[in-house]
Order: sequence, then structure tokens, then C-alpha cells
Amino acid sequence: MEHERLTTTTPVNPGEVVVAQGLSHPVLGSVRCASAAVVGGALARRGIRVRYHRALNSSARVDQRLPVVRVTSWLDATGRARGFGVASAAGDTATATAVAEVMREWSSALRTRRLLVAGAPPTCHGARRAVRLVGRALAGGGAVYVWGRMVAESAAVEDLRRRGAMVVTDLDLVPCGATVVFPAHGVEPAVRAEAVLRGLTVVDATCPLAADILAEARRFAARGDTIVVIGRADHAVVSTLTGLAPHDTRVVQTVDDVLRLDIDVADPVSYLVAPGFPLDEAADVIAMLRATWPTVRAQHGLCHAATERAEVVDGLAAACDLLLVAGSDDCRDAVTIAERARAVGQADVHVVARVEDLRLAWLPRASTVGVTPALSAAPGTVDGIAEALSALGPLSVAHRDPDIPSQATADDYHGRDARSVPSEVHPTTEPVMTS
Ligand code: SF4
Repeated sequence: MEHERLTTTTPVNPGEVVVAQGLSHPVLGSVRCASAAVVGGALARRGIRVRYHRALNSSARVDQRLPVVRVTSWLDATGRARGFGVASAAGDTATATAVAEVMREWSSALRTRRLLVAGAPPTCHGARRAVRLVGRALAGGGAVYVWGRMVAESAAVEDLRRRGAMVVTDLDLVPCGATVVFPAHGVEPAVRAEAVLRGLTVVDATCPLAADILAEARRFAARGDTIVVIGRADHAVVSTLTGLAPHDTRVVQTVDDVLRLDIDVADPVSYLVAPGFPLDEAADVIAMLRATWPTVRAQHGLCHAATERAEVVDGLAAACDLLLVAGSDDCRDAVTIAERARAVGQADVHVVARVEDLRLAWLPRASTVGVTPALSAAPGTVDGIAEALSALGPLSVAHRDPDIPSQATADDYHGRDARSVPSEVHPTTEPVMTS
């Protein structure tokens, strides 16, 4: 590894740095600086203004008036130079000190490593299908309203908004004759009836799996059961399920929640694991329900999407020294992934909104890094992380796909007679517009 001090004719102001995304070196020629964003992020966190330059020139010429370029480089297996270059103004010692610190961190982070990328997308079949249907409705022209919440990658939701999709939670705001799309997690019957009454054109993007589970909840309510929904209260489908029988539905997520339920032991009780909730996290809750209400009845249909994704996170967390969740730290999905990884023993988990947020200090001991996108991941973040790591030593990249047991059934989790379980329905059919 080479550390050098060169000069550049590119102007640099005191208090700022110019970080090379590519560097023209007097001996090595073109130096690839794929970790420019990581270096820029480290300097910005030290309070320094950062500009980037796609092809910063550098020279061995000694001239006290010219900006200084500090360069660190190594040669990859093909003999190509990789590294980074940062220019600071002549005589700007405070900035130069910060650059020297980042250079040391960068050098410590340099090592051979492996990157494991989660192969599974952050959304399920049902959510992707709903996005497709909103897009198709927009392409048909006219105003398109989406009822409730669109659960999909932030970038996809933003794209639909830009194209004119409007999210509403009150059908009175939808003009007569306009198109309203029901989301993947479905709507309550009252909303459906109101849409028909108002003559709206309905595109029903309810996922068939979610529709099955909602239908079961309606059957439970019709036979007079108290329904215990196992899931996160802030998940869209949980509010839809609760809305079917608001007075007879309770939401629980933990064993403690079950202990707090005010249901008479003689009352008929049924439970549903909500889509979006991993089934292994529901196991203890189900056991406590069974212990408290021995005649409690279970659902037949189950959605395995969250379970499969949790299995991917578990596998990644176990296989790596450092897990990066691409997304924003105010995103429920990103936080849930990080919590899951910590729960299975991975202590070094970080949510990374931009490549700039990747800290050099996390990397020296990380010989295997895992990365998985959350719903809020900006397009290109996972690739950007891979690119940045490729500048920090020889990198091999592998994709981890879910290791899913073939056709798990509801009985794998409820311990009932397998013959009573219907086969799982995958949402491959597309709905027809109705008005
Ligand atoms: S039921 Fe499952 S597959 Fe369908 S939208 Fe919900 S989480 Fe996705």
C-alpha cells in the first residue's frame, strides 16, 4: 500500500476538501476511487465541506501554493490501482489533519473480505402485484386514488406518487367516477360498499392470501368468537383485520400481551397470525393462548412471506461479522430487520441510508459483511455499498437466497391435522376493474 503527498491544479478552498471519484496519477495512471463516498462521509462527519471530482488531476510537482492531494493506493489482482485521493488547500493544517485521520482509518479497514447480499427482495408477491396494478391504472389515464397505505419499496411508492397516484383514507375525497385501488392488505366491507355506492371504479389489489385470512376473520366473527390477532399493531393488515370486528378483536404481539387479555376463559376464542409477522415469533404467543384458552381455534390459511424474509435475515446475521441494513433508521421495516438480527446474536448491525453512512471504523474486523435492503432503501444503495467495499481490499460477492422449507403448512405452527389445511394460494391472478 502506498501513501503519497502530491499536488493538484484543481482549486480547493480552505476548510473544504475535494474527494476524488477517479484520480489521474503521475505514475499509476488512472486510480479507481470506488470508496469516495465513504471517505467523503467520514470527512463530512468531521465538519468539513466535501466536494467530489470525477477525475482529479495530481502531480509530483512541488509547489507550496498548490492544493495538496493525499493519495493511498493498492494494486488489485489485475494490476489496476485502487485507492483514494483527497485534496485540501495549501497551508490548511486543520483539514489536512482530518484527512490524515481518515487515511489511517481507511488503511486499517483494508483487507480481503466477502460480501453476502440478501437475495430476497424486501417486498412480497402481494405488495409487488399491488404496485403493478396501481401503475397499470395510472397508465389507463384519469385520477387514481389508493385507499389506505401502499406497503412497498419507498422508491416504488414515490414513483407512483410522481405519476399521480393519491393516497386517501376517506372515500369522500375521491370524485365520483374516479378510480380507487384497494391495497394488498385489503379493506373493510364498509369501504368496499361505500365505493360501490359512490360509483367509483374499483381496482381490487387485495392479495389473495390476505383475502383468505380476512375471510377467516369474518367467519370467526360470524360464529361469535373473540379474535386474537397476532401481529404488530402498526401493520396495515392488522388495522384491516381489527376493522372487521372492532369490538371482538384483540391484537397481541408478545406473551405479556396475552397475559393482559381480558377475555373470559369460557368464551370462544380464535386466533390469526397476521401477514407480515414471522411465524416463529408467534410460536410462544400461540402456546400461551393454548394454555389459557384450551379450546382456542386457529386459522387455516397462513402467509409465509415475513417468515421467509426473517429466515434470510437470520441466515445473513449468522454468517457475517457485520450486517448492514440499507434503508433509513426511521423506517419500521429497517428497524425490524435490525432488531431481528440482534435477537439472533448479531451485535454489529447498522442501518445505512446512504453509502456515505458506511463507517470505516466498522470494517477492520469484518471479514464477512452482510447487506440486506429494507423497504426504505434508496435505489442503488446495496450496489453502492458493494462498490465501496470493493475499494477496500479484494472482495468476493455472494447472494443469499431464502432457505425455505418446501410448502410449510399451518399445522407446522399450530400442531393440528395436516389434512384440514388448504394448499397455499399465490397471488398470480390479476383482478378486473369493477364499477
Ligand atoms: S398476505 Fe402475505 S403475500 Fe399477501 S400482501 Fe400480505 S404479506 Fe404479502
